[in-house]
Amino acid sequence: MAKKSHQSASPYTGVVRRVVPVGEEKLVALTFDDGPWPDTVAVLEVLRQYGAKATFFWVGLHLQRRPEIAQQVVVEGHAIGNHTWSHRNTPMTPEEAGEEIERTAALIAHTTGLTTSLFRPPGGRLHNGLADYALQQGYTVVQWSVLGKDTEVLEAESIVENVLHNVQPGSIVLLHDGGGDRRKTVEALHTILPALQAQGYRFVTVPELLALNQAAIPKAPSH
Ligand SMILES: [Zn+2]
Repeated sequence: MAKKSHQSASPYTGVVRRVVPVGEEKLVALTFDDGPWPDTVAVLEVLRQYGAKATFFWVGLHLQRRPEIAQQVVVEGHAIGNHTWSHRNTPMTPEEAGEEIERTAALIAHTTGLTTSLFRPPGGRLHNGLADYALQQGYTVVQWSVLGKDTEVLEAESIVENVLHNVQPGSIVLLHDGGGDRRKTVEALHTILPALQAQGYRFVTVPELLALNQAAIPKAPSH
């Protein structure tokens, strides 16, 4: 499939972890890492139920195995980002970083017809060569301001608390639809989505949030 559209031409190039919306409008960007995965289907169902849009950061190796799920994510109107080919996060040369990112970008284009300007480094690590390569190529490096900690906790209620206690207007929330058993994440979403909607929040994609780029807050350098 040819590259036919650029899904997320970003007005912001740099590292971002939150975007303060104009007038503190209650927008929040849910992001899901490490898919496409079988549990992605259940995540999509919850998002659909609440009319929420989100952003999915894909691992090339997982995308290669589940192109149909990836296509469903795009058809349902969610945004996508590049999360490397292998999810390796050890130091690497520019050539190795390029291989991790470009191979994934090519498969995203082949599978969905889209290119993405969003990149998230595995583990959020900014100094192993991946983020530098991505920034040089014009990607926006998308970190987060709220951690669901859904890869660590045992109970869905803890995921719910981690999100609800920390969300502010413009938050980027890190959750996972892939890389393991994500049923607890799905269970948590059934509480998180209606709870935040009841507080007046609207769920937008990262590109939609970045469209309010004047107030993008870069992650502080941590050399
Ligand atoms: Zn990851």
